[in-house]
Amino acid sequence: MIKLENVEKVYRTSAIETLALNNININVRKGEFVSIMGPSGCGKSTLLNIMGLLDTPSKGHIEIDGSKVEKYTDKSLAHLRNQKLGFIFQSFHLINDLSVIDNVEIPLLYRTSSSKDRRELAQEALEKVGLSNRMKHFPKQLSGGQKQRVAIARAIVGKPEIILADEPTGNLDSAMGNEILSILQQLNEGGATIVMVTHDDAMAKRTHRLIRLFDGTQVF
Ligand code: ADP
Ligand code: ADP
Repeated sequence: MIKLENVEKVYRTSAIETLALNNININVRKGEFVSIMGPSGCGKSTLLNIMGLLDTPSKGHIEIDGSKVEKYTDKSLAHLRNQKLGFIFQSFHLINDLSVIDNVEIPLLYRTSSSKDRRELAQEALEKVGLSNRMKHFPKQLSGGQKQRVAIARAIVGKPEIILADEPTGNLDSAMGNEILSILQQLNEGGATIVMVTHDDAMAKRTHRLIRLFDGTQVF
């Protein structure tokens, strides 16, 4: 589903060059739930951003669902991202002056769906994360775990085949973190391919496979 071949990422800023990823080869199969661990600065976010087509590698190839992405224009990349990928972040990234349901509808605004269809899809996504009783609330009226559930609903509202999660439980206590992981497991059982960055061994153990990074290199 996500294939990285000999991927290298170098950040160049004036005089400094940082090799953030060094010859990465990863094949995430359809339906897998993979976690990525490693110390701070080892390249986890860079790797997730490249998998999510938010950043481009300096060298190497990426395939998403069998398509080589380097021949895509920016516009078709944005389209691919919107159709196939859902993102979840450590700090939720909700819009504070939009209600829960309006936050969840955001990814659908780029599609041609009607406002009625958008509302129905958003309600369905909120039901999946157990928050249909909070649709009219605003983010500041929710606990951390509830905010992350809204963010998950937003990530899945367009029914993406791939979910990329960057430390989704990093800001939550262990009870809420466990709840969030259970939701991700349910989505995975429903067919979603998931890649999750985590610092938490217990969370990584609940996934199918762990990829470890150290200083930009895969270690086994
Ligand atoms: P992690 O997510 O594992 O903490 P990152 O992927 O954020 O690691 O960063 C990997 C390395 O690349 C680090 O050494 C970091 O300082 C460097 N880096 C990340 N983003 C940039 C950037 N935009 N410009 C320059 N260096 C960067
Ligand atoms: P937790 O114990 O999970 O941290 P809180 O004590 O923050 O949760 O909130 C308990 C419940 O009350 C939550 O379900 C939340 O949706 C609701 N709630 C919290 N603050 C507000 C508020 N200002 N307005 C409306 N509902 C709120």
